[in-house]
Amino acid sequence: MPEKILFIGLDAADKDLLLDWAKVGLLPTFQSLLQKGAFGITKDPPGINGCHWPTFFSGVSPAKHGRYWAQQIQPGSYDIKSFDFQWQPFWNVLTQAGRQVVLIDAPEAPLAEELNGVQIVEKPYSRSFETYPQSLAADIKTQLGENPIGSLRSCGRSLVDIQNFRQNLLNSIEKRTETIAHFLNQGEWDLFLTAFRESHWVGHQCWHLHDPNHPEHDPEIVSSLGNPLKDIYIAIDAALGKILQQVGPDTTVLIFASTGIGPNYTGVHILDQILLRLENPGKAMPETVNQKLNFLKQFKFLRELKKQILKPLGSAESKRKKAASSMANRKCFQVPSSEGFGGIRVNLVGREPEGKIQPGQEYKSFCEALSKDLKELVNLDTGEPLIKNIFQSTEVYHGENPMGVPDILVEWNRNAPISSVHSPKIGKLDKVYWDSRTGDHKPGGLFLVLGPQVKPMQLEQVASIIDLAPTIASLLEVSLPQSDGQEMAIPIAV
Ligand SMILES: [Zn+2]
Repeated sequence: MPEKILFIGLDAADKDLLLDWAKVGLLPTFQSLLQKGAFGITKDPPGINGCHWPTFFSGVSPAKHGRYWAQQIQPGSYDIKSFDFQWQPFWNVLTQAGRQVVLIDAPEAPLAEELNGVQIVEKPYSRSFETYPQSLAADIKTQLGENPIGSLRSCGRSLVDIQNFRQNLLNSIEKRTETIAHFLNQGEWDLFLTAFRESHWVGHQCWHLHDPNHPEHDPEIVSSLGNPLKDIYIAIDAALGKILQQVGPDTTVLIFASTGIGPNYTGVHILDQILLRLENPGKAMPETVNQKLNFLKQFKFLRELKKQILKPLGSAESKRKKAASSMANRKCFQVPSSEGFGGIRVNLVGREPEGKIQPGQEYKSFCEALSKDLKELVNLDTGEPLIKNIFQSTEVYHGENPMGVPDILVEWNRNAPISSVHSPKIGKLDKVYWDSRTGDHKPGGLFLVLGPQVKPMQLEQVASIIDLAPTIASLLEVSLPQSDGQEMAIPIAV
């Protein structure tokens, strides 16, 4: 008899914070789950931090599904566009196998065209939602209101901004819990899959209030408001407790904290200039408008002004053309990526329209030499290496669709902000990073399984996030032959 499965994602809830705060009693539900369930650490695909949920719900490697970030280079061109994710979620296979599925805000998942069950999908930034079947939306609005799952991604930095953001997140958690309870109680499901997204949103916006070492830590806000990150984790923990009271003992519960959170220190803003200097050693680089305005960084209130100053400088189309012609003339260039990892694309003959590096030995030697040069870079503020790890995608990804993935992925050393870098080859380069998000993702997550037969223990083996889909499907007696993952060994009590 297939099991009933309740899967709850704790979106970007940091595993170390969860474990620490559970240990000291701040998260009593999580603390008891750690004692009653089997739990372990998860690892992400190497060098990539922009496709957790798509990798989870497709159950395949980025080498196969092709996404490493939301914006990617279009194969055969220098154009950067939103990535069109084509791989089907694993619940489509469950549907075909006759399993009933309820999906309440599965992060980043598309709205199903056909589903043996129901789905609510967030419309990002709109505080609105869509449903499968479409007719469900009207019922939800009547019974649960206009905003059953929330969407609160950003906020300002003033006390009032943070105060409102925190309160809205707490309201969102309450509403989401009510929505989850509403569908749980209907009982018509084999897999119930949902997630708390508030942990993700607070991590990006309020990390600096949690971290006293962050340059934008604001003791005044902390003294009057406390630590919003902690408050949101505590509220999610309480919500988790309420939800779990409503599931029967025959249900297997899986909890997945998808990825970590830490300070948003990055070198993505300086990487392309590093590459330009490496390609043109000794040549003076003209200072960009952006660099000229760097001094504004010290004045917080001028940040918005800088954005306004830069906005009118050329249309999106003229910027795109300029960027493409600059890429075409180079041996390699930066491509968009998450803040945690920088992406470098080699201008390869036969792949790029105006390639400069020949495939084979020249490509190999170029990547080796570039990696060596990158390893020599230091963060001048700390004296530490600028880059923690370098991944060559041909070595770590051998998929069917490696075309859009950068050739080289660099993992920044995120111990300190990056605003001044140096190497013997490029000399000194200064550029501060501007972003409204003070927190960003760090690799590694946590999963926990709780069920009638699960033996409580900490698992030593680190599982890949690709393994979750085949594991869930297998518990429902369905196989996922297309998946690159392996079914996790869940310890059974005898
Ligand atoms: Zn994020």
